[in-house]
Amino acid sequence: MVAEKDKANHQESEQNDVLKSTQTVIHHALDKLGYPEEVYELLKEPVRMLTVKIPVRMDDGKVKVFTGYRAQHNDAVGPTKGGIRFHPNVTEKEVKALSIWMSLKCGIVDLPYGGGKGGIICDPRDMSFRELERLSRGYVRAISQIVGPAKDIPAPDVFTNSQIMAWMMDEYSRIDEYNSPGFITGKPLVLGGSHGRETATAKGVTICIHEAAKKKGIKLEGARVVVQGFGNAGSFLAKFMHDAGAKVIGISDAYGGLHDEDGLDIDYLLDRRDSFGTVTKLFNNTITNQELLELDCDILVPAAIENQITERNANNIRASIVVEAANGPTTLEATKILTERGILLVPDVLASSGGVTVSYFEWVQNNQGYYWTEEEVEEKLEKILINSFNNVYETSQTRRVDMRLAAYMVGVRKMAEACRFRGWI
Ligand code: GLU
Repeated sequence: MVAEKDKANHQESEQNDVLKSTQTVIHHALDKLGYPEEVYELLKEPVRMLTVKIPVRMDDGKVKVFTGYRAQHNDAVGPTKGGIRFHPNVTEKEVKALSIWMSLKCGIVDLPYGGGKGGIICDPRDMSFRELERLSRGYVRAISQIVGPAKDIPAPDVFTNSQIMAWMMDEYSRIDEYNSPGFITGKPLVLGGSHGRETATAKGVTICIHEAAKKKGIKLEGARVVVQGFGNAGSFLAKFMHDAGAKVIGISDAYGGLHDEDGLDIDYLLDRRDSFGTVTKLFNNTITNQELLELDCDILVPAAIENQITERNANNIRASIVVEAANGPTTLEATKILTERGILLVPDVLASSGGVTVSYFEWVQNNQGYYWTEEEVEEKLEKILINSFNNVYETSQTRRVDMRLAAYMVGVRKMAEACRFRGWI
């Protein structure tokens, strides 16, 4: 009995291994596109992975040593690009998988980048402002040799924000002895940030929802939407859905969910959330995140963390459309179940690519020293995302594959071609 349980647990943790599942789909996508095995050998792991130790003087005078990572998946197309997350659950494997996803996102929206990703094992919710500043600067000093505006360009991710990007940009500029706004994106506007960057991920998800709803014949006006996660992506998305006339009947944070069939008061919740996206602690009548995912709704948006929809609950999902605003919220087994059940799944590498798209705009503006209006940014983002959605959707229809595999096929092609032209494979 115990052995069987161990086996089941082992199988489940294998299925929840985000690096392994990404490698499985990349392999499949390359096979479908007819590339030889050596292309997979090159693309299955980052070309470069740096682990660093960051000593930080804490406010109590003691030194705490943090572990950080920076992964660069593939730089054949151009410099690598991707966020830095501050989270207690960061692992080397996760950072590697996240860097591969960044390559795929850049391929899908056709940016001149490969993918990169960074992470520090820490809990910013328990750190002071100054401790966070010292950690951010220490991380940049530790990785400074492998990053730069033409090498690898970081950005925000889970629990990092424009203030952290500002400290990092300042630290890099001191090391470089040059003002280097193009070193990092997601900066405050006054330091060369772009209009529309803060809301870009949610805007991209919104555009995907509009396109997916058209395919499914669902009218957004009055549609019931559930959003898991109230961080940067989830909170703005709830607002955009509300503004579009949809009824946001459920939202959640790490501590629980809120549900109201008549629609939640999103403006009030936005007003009360803290900078880590926590809001449900203020309420007594909460539901669990698992209950939230299984609510009867039209559109479900997992916008929090990995492995939320698995083979355990995929059969209980009642939405017609699932749009992945988070990275890796659905396992491969669950992807299969949802697809077989006729649910339209818009995969993370497509749905969450709005953030890196506007990061690219920010970097272009920094390189030119010429800044765009919010309307220009929005117009360009919309064009790119609509094209990318339809490209992935058409691929899934014509090649008779699910949306995730279609997105990987679109995302990996440019990178594989760039490797070939460079003579690497
Ligand atoms: N961290 C975001 C993502 O996962 C944005 C990356 C970027 O802007 O470079 O897509």
